[in-house]
Amino acid sequence: MYRSESREKLREFECITEQVKKCTNCELHQTRNNVVVGSGNLDSRIVLMGEAPGRKEDESGLPFVGAAGKLLDTLLASAGLKREDILITNVVQCRPPKNRRPKKSEIKACEHFLVEKIAVLRPKIIAPMGNSSLSYILNHYGKEKAVIGDIHGQPFVTEEPWGKVTVFPLYHPAAAIYNRKLIPQLEEDMRKLAELQVS
Ligand code: SF4
Repeated sequence: MYRSESREKLREFECITEQVKKCTNCELHQTRNNVVVGSGNLDSRIVLMGEAPGRKEDESGLPFVGAAGKLLDTLLASAGLKREDILITNVVQCRPPKNRRPKKSEIKACEHFLVEKIAVLRPKIIAPMGNSSLSYILNHYGKEKAVIGDIHGQPFVTEEPWGKVTVFPLYHPAAAIYNRKLIPQLEEDMRKLAELQVS
């Protein structure tokens, strides 16, 4: 599910995962089958952040394994990136029923897990995908509200205790399933993200 060169990092991430599994802080715990904490490389410079697990993610315990996940893999490959080299997570760890958007209260209840994960991962780049994760990130870093259609592909830099972190907003891949015209834009933004990774 996830890997790292650092035993300490693995231990810390596993510890958070165990806490999430026991969590009953919001009503989403009542309907979940599995929590979805994250997958990929804990040592990655990039964290991709979606909104919440969907049905397939809830069944498998892994993020982005449905149709949006397949498209995400294709988009990553088009930019020379691989899913297994990146860390993928969500703003909330349990599936909202019928894939509705997570409520503000649920995001608030789950926020500390996300903050703890990011502190363990210490990424150089955080890429919120879609409006829910963008909204969370803008609020978290004290930025003005914005929508993904206006600021996708436009990075801004913020500070964390481990150094500068670039926030790079992306459309959610699911949006491109319903609106294929977004795919060239997503491909272009992925290319920019890949360039940032090596800069
Ligand atoms: Fe706990 Fe987060 Fe799951 Fe709510 S979504 S039950 S806060 S882990």
